[in-house]
Amino acid sequence: MVDIKSLTNTQLERFVTELGEKKFHAGQLFEWMHGKRAVSFQEMTNLSKKFREQLEQQAYLTVLEQAAVQVSKQDGTRKYLFRLSDGNVIESVCMKYQYGNSVCISSQAGCRMGCTFCASADGGLARNLTAAEMAEQVYRIGEDIGERISHIVVMGTGEPLDNYENLLQFLRIINDKKGANISHRNITVSTCGLVPQIRRLAEEKLQITLALSLHAPIQEKREALMPVAKVWPLPEVMEACRDYFEITGRRISFEYSLIHGKNDTKEDCRALAELVKGMNCHINLIPVNPVKDTGYRQPDRSHVQNFKNMLEKSERNVTIRREMGRDIDGACGQLRQRYMKTGNGVKHES
Ligand code: SAH
Repeated sequence: MVDIKSLTNTQLERFVTELGEKKFHAGQLFEWMHGKRAVSFQEMTNLSKKFREQLEQQAYLTVLEQAAVQVSKQDGTRKYLFRLSDGNVIESVCMKYQYGNSVCISSQAGCRMGCTFCASADGGLARNLTAAEMAEQVYRIGEDIGERISHIVVMGTGEPLDNYENLLQFLRIINDKKGANISHRNITVSTCGLVPQIRRLAEEKLQITLALSLHAPIQEKREALMPVAKVWPLPEVMEACRDYFEITGRRISFEYSLIHGKNDTKEDCRALAELVKGMNCHINLIPVNPVKDTGYRQPDRSHVQNFKNMLEKSERNVTIRREMGRDIDGACGQLRQRYMKTGNGVKHES
């Protein structure tokens, strides 16, 4: 059976002609799946009955099942738990901004990167998501809220560059004018710093934003938070980021989760400024979301502000991320983590 929703329009044309149908039907099929978010072949009424039956026999449509949704009373952020056809669960978040609806999607069920502060590290990697499963998170949320989704951040569970081929396939599908038509400029892919894949992605020359999870400007401290730093040390990661900008012209966004006593000293701030010196970049400071039994705490609000002020002496583009959905397990992986531990500890709201 062919995972038809994971095919780009060009691949779909090949598939359709191999079935003995005219090429233009591929466009119709693509539009049904990715534009109209169809959940069955039967709905596709401008395709012949014979062709639809053929499709039923040869292919399947990935559709995610909404297992739970939590809605923040503070800011309307919606957090979804979706069930995949094999029983795995993943989570996605929808945030309303002035510029539009932004969806944070997962790229894997679980994750094998093991960052010590992250809830998604718990339990390791179950499996990669298909391109269709990534796109479906956007489609189901679009259906649920009845509004256009204009922005995507690939910052949910998983390491997107550890699922490179499917991620690229997803980025091609979601950008297609016949489908969701979401501009690459409105898409951010966040990575913990897999150097070969960052280099490979640069060569694709997409107009997406690459976010690098930096979290510490000093090698030993970064290693303590992110095991992947032992494999790809800071100088190599930073060089890959510099080259990424050179090749794509897209400035890198550095994510820096501030953790009390771990990476929030003046020395860290100075080292951070030094590390990104001369780069055209953006630094996003995120007070860490306390998860698990790590004991990690957020620095005081004033301390976060001081860190920002100090950094701003040398860096122009520094922001403190607005925390959204604090009342609904805001940080990545927490809803899924709770669901996996209890099986039913999730509130159902409609
Ligand atoms: N694997 C990718 C994308 C998923 S995580 C990556 O590492 O970038 C998305 C972002 O949330 C990363 O910057 C990650 O470090 C951060 N993050 C994870 N857990 C967090 C927590 N408890 N508090 C704050 N940020 C967290």
